[in-house]
Amino acid sequence: MALFGVGGLRILKKFILVGAVGFLLTAWGGCQVPGFFPIEPSPEVAPTTHIFVISIDGLRPDALKVANTPHIDKLREQGAFTPRAQTVLPSRTLPAHTSMLSGLKVEKHQVETNTYHDEMGYFSFPTIFTKAKEQGLSTAFFANLHFFRFLANPRDVDKMEFPESERRAYKYIFRPLGERATHHIRSSKPALLFLHLAQVDGAGHAYGWMSKEQIDMVEVVDRQVGQVLEAVKAGGIWQNSYFIITADHGGHEKGHGTSLPEDMTIPWLICGPNIKKGYEIEGQVHVYDTAATVLYILGIPIPEDWDGRPVIEAFEMPLSSEVGLLQKRCIEV
Ligand SMILES: [Zn+2]
Repeated sequence: MALFGVGGLRILKKFILVGAVGFLLTAWGGCQVPGFFPIEPSPEVAPTTHIFVISIDGLRPDALKVANTPHIDKLREQGAFTPRAQTVLPSRTLPAHTSMLSGLKVEKHQVETNTYHDEMGYFSFPTIFTKAKEQGLSTAFFANLHFFRFLANPRDVDKMEFPESERRAYKYIFRPLGERATHHIRSSKPALLFLHLAQVDGAGHAYGWMSKEQIDMVEVVDRQVGQVLEAVKAGGIWQNSYFIITADHGGHEKGHGTSLPEDMTIPWLICGPNIKKGYEIEGQVHVYDTAATVLYILGIPIPEDWDGRPVIEAFEMPLSSEVGLLQKRCIEV
């Protein structure tokens, strides 16, 4: 005890723990963790984990009960889902997506409106793209609204597509952004891809939340989700792919932004290797947990100041941080 001191002993214990985990994993077979990328010491042949985060702007969970959404239903059958996730206040697009992609509450990131102009530059805190890029992973960002540029620093994002301005956004919404994203999936197989689809929100503002027109648009978006799934299969990366499908906010009447449950409650779905199947998540999920869950899957340490936490409950086999770090080290060898 005196040889190491209390701090030294703690480090020694951690060293022994990590070593033991490494030995067990190696003995188990090829240093492989089910559901995560194999950690063979050869980066050229190690398959990459792929994560596709799809945000369906303005999607209320109860809209999924009414609309015919075979592709999202399939992911629910094969994954873990909660219809009770919560977004942030104000329940608006840019504040909520900033939380979704940065792991921070509004109090920390202080993005409280959708106001954006190009001179504002880029969001100053790290996002999931920053952290993925630090690890040398390929990233892509497709969004139906111009102001998403704020969250897509070219330093962190390899491929991005937005409308040129908000005035052009309406036309752009009805261009097949899903098809463009799927082309990129097939050709480049990015490790992390974010896809924002605005049609459901647009129909809500025009015709009302839960109107027939909006429900029709939920079905259009579901077909775009289906295109993404097909592209992932066609790209030969299905076995290593995770999907997170969620929303930035709900809505009521022809708007959103308030603390009403209709505005605040969002669906949150995850599907992929090592994810429970047909499982309803009981714990409270927040929109900012999306970012932390992405890093958790990629084995990237979650910054201490993030408010978001990985949705561990959705995983068949939770991974300790030691295992996550061990994976990362093996990849780097
Ligand atoms: Zn929105």
